[in-house]
Amino acid sequence: MGTKQRERVRRQLMRRRRELLKRRDEGLLLEQVLSQSEIGDEVDTSVKDQERNLVERLKEFEYNELRSVQRALQRIEEDEYDVCASCGHPIQARRLLANPEATLCVSCAARRRGPTSPGRVEAWLQG
Ligand SMILES: [Zn+2]
Repeated sequence: MGTKQRERVRRQLMRRRRELLKRRDEGLLLEQVLSQSEIGDEVDTSVKDQERNLVERLKEFEYNELRSVQRALQRIEEDEYDVCASCGHPIQARRLLANPEATLCVSCAARRRGPTSPGRVEAWLQG
């Protein structure tokens, strides 16, 4: 992958990381509000539990995503970014641009997802 494309993918990842960090902060804020409104209010405990569960799930989801974004950024730093983690062949630049967090080439990703059909590979390429 050329330097220009690499830089483009890196910028994409940095932007994604910023978004995720911001959303994480907002999630923490929401959590604070929820725990404060708890005081002296026992009526709608179940609603609050539901809200808390939602916050937990969001946090988990975003944490996982943040981790894969950071892993991808690290792979760029180590210059292993366009090397497939499974077969060692280069990952197609087109695929990385569509899906910056990809660690597998198209064929390895398709193999892991089950039987290959042209439509499936195409869909995966689109991210
Ligand atoms: Zn591969």
